[in-house]
Amino acid sequence: MKWVRFQDSDGIFYGIQDGDSIQKTNLSWEDILAGQAVTGGASVSLDSVKVLAPIASPSKIVAVGQNYMDHCREQNVAPPERPILFTKFTTSIIGNGDTIEYAQALTQQADYEVELAVVIGKEARNVSEEDALDYVFGYTVANDVSARDLQFGDKQWVRGKSLDTFCPMGPCILTADEVKDPQDLKLSTTLNGTVLQDSTTAEMIFGVRHLISFCSKAFTLLPGDVILTGTPDGVGVFRDPPIFLTDGDTVTCEVEGIGQLTNPVSVI
Ligand code: MG
Repeated sequence: MKWVRFQDSDGIFYGIQDGDSIQKTNLSWEDILAGQAVTGGASVSLDSVKVLAPIASPSKIVAVGQNYMDHCREQNVAPPERPILFTKFTTSIIGNGDTIEYAQALTQQADYEVELAVVIGKEARNVSEEDALDYVFGYTVANDVSARDLQFGDKQWVRGKSLDTFCPMGPCILTADEVKDPQDLKLSTTLNGTVLQDSTTAEMIFGVRHLISFCSKAFTLLPGDVILTGTPDGVGVFRDPPIFLTDGDTVTCEVEGIGQLTNPVSVI
């Protein structure tokens, strides 16, 4: 099923999306992660509500750098020997339709990165690869927006990855039971109608099972934590000439079966 978080005139709710409608529930995010049964609930039109980022404030966002073979090839770098982890602060999260906004004075190199995002369903510590998918609640789409001048200029990625609005997520969470194989999903980025990333999660160097196990041996993953699993080739910075997000752009990231995450861009 597809979970959406949304706002209507009565407040903020979670609901189950079915086509153009949402079955509204009174469940909290904690209730949902605990597997509480869904009962009744009014049906509301998707068009009549404001869809929000599906996860408001995870305890952490773990992101993975250089995790696609095709993305390593475009940079002319060897694939890493182990996952390269970094973080994006949770204050960077926005939802589908929200504006990616940045100050020209801060960065002139805002770039897009479509990613399959894993939503952790239960506490994971020292988990084996074999068991790792049992800890997944579901999957969403993320755009790991990156200020390349800050990312590379700082010698440390966190600031360039964590600007406010630089982590669009959504539009929904597709539950894990509906994803047969997380290593067999098409994903793409379209900028103003032009496809700039078009690949598959089969290109991942370290797959979802490995990433969960690897992370959980270093730190505890809590329910609701999000792992951004890396981006394929076609990002703007490695193009000739480079392409960066500019004022008035519209960027859409899509992962097969989950949906489209579309955000306008505003430069202030
Ligand atoms: Mg990334």
